[in-house]
Amino acid sequence: MSDIVQFFIDKFRELLSNTDILPSYYRPRTYRNSAVRFRDCSIDEFEERRDILINDSGLNVFLFPANKIPGCDLLSDSGTTTMTMQQWAELFMGDESYGTNEGFQELKLQILETFGQAWCQKNKTRENMFIFHQGRSAEFALFSNLAKVLAKKEKKNTTLSSELPEDLHGLISKKLEDNPNAYYIIPNNAHFDTTEANIANSQFLPLNLPCKKHMTGDESCKFRGNINLDALRALLTHERDRIPMIYLTITNNTGGGQPVALENIKAVRALSREFNVPFFFDACRFSENAWYIKNNEPVFADKSIQEIVHDEFEQVDGFHISLKKDGLVNMGGAIIIREDGLFPQIFPQMQGAITDHQILIEGHPTYGGLTGRDIKALIQGLKQVVNQNYLDSRIGQVQRSGQKLSDLGIPIINPVGGHAVYLNMDIFHVVVECKDEDYKGLSFRAPLMIAGLRIYELR
Ligand SMILES: *Cc1c(COP(=O)(O)O)cnc(C)c1O
Repeated sequence: MSDIVQFFIDKFRELLSNTDILPSYYRPRTYRNSAVRFRDCSIDEFEERRDILINDSGLNVFLFPANKIPGCDLLSDSGTTTMTMQQWAELFMGDESYGTNEGFQELKLQILETFGQAWCQKNKTRENMFIFHQGRSAEFALFSNLAKVLAKKEKKNTTLSSELPEDLHGLISKKLEDNPNAYYIIPNNAHFDTTEANIANSQFLPLNLPCKKHMTGDESCKFRGNINLDALRALLTHERDRIPMIYLTITNNTGGGQPVALENIKAVRALSREFNVPFFFDACRFSENAWYIKNNEPVFADKSIQEIVHDEFEQVDGFHISLKKDGLVNMGGAIIIREDGLFPQIFPQMQGAITDHQILIEGHPTYGGLTGRDIKALIQGLKQVVNQNYLDSRIGQVQRSGQKLSDLGIPIINPVGGHAVYLNMDIFHVVVECKDEDYKGLSFRAPLMIAGLRIYELR
């Protein structure tokens, strides 16, 4: 074993035996939360974890067996939720009929309760709620079918407008160099990696326009997930024909789990009306985002989380969502389209196309890649996720972890987002000479894995 690895192991042992250090490097409990689940390992097995990592996982933390992790498994928040007792109870009520299971109708009603009455199916000849097995399959259905629809449209001007602000022009030109066949651009505060990949896979350009305060690392900014409205306006003014949709990711996962202010959401809505471009959410953490609006946008302080969720969704023409996040289930995704919004007007073919896609890839649209019991658990999840006490404790726990790290002088992205603490690896490694290609986050994962924690990096 190398001296460096041995150094880490000795250090972890030293910390483990020292209870004076804060935050306490503690011996973790021996179970995970889903009733009690005993682990197949203990914190002391540093060498064993090192051997598994090198010999079995090939340094790929995804391939590391979860039951050999004694500490927190923070690989992802996608589908790792612990279900509530109500959700477990609902599993027994699952209806596994092939067509229109009991849960499907109930889910449609729950969508109205959670997101607002405006999301009802107004036109009985076409569906407006599409369920998938997870978020990225919903993204694939949306963008691959949009690409087919747009392929039939004539492209007006294929050279980029010289009137775009210089930085924006540079940003898009660079993306066009990598993908010269692309024409359409989909702007967002920042696309999540699977969304970005699905957009690029459909030959569109995914464009991230985070607000300036986020870019400058302004820690006093409460809504670092906001989109840069000036850049978005400039893009719409000079390249309207290239923009089939505008996106906002709430909360902005890739950008540090940062929330988006309702004021910013409303301003994007106004732009979408001015330029007649449909506006969608990537809505994975809609409830968490509402919690931040309630706590940090004073005019909304007296509203309930449920009311603020309605306010958020009042602004958009549709959304796609990984229900493995704020749906509080382990599997599920959806696309939901507002019948009286811009999307069906501009793309009347899309709903039928998504239904065909579901049948081809997921299953009948009334179960869409989910079992009947998954759907039942999801309905409960959507009911419970707007519970204020639950969100207080969930987000508070993340914030306390961030605070402890900050107090120790470990550089994190502040303010802390709602579902993860993001270490700033550029600053973390500032005393070590390394370049971007050195994959700083990646190199940090191995010693942490040996310590008994699994983390992941986002670029
Ligand atoms: C998790 C996530 C997705 C992808 O969802 P999966 O269900 O993991 O496929 C897309 N967008 C955002 C913002 C996410 O957080």
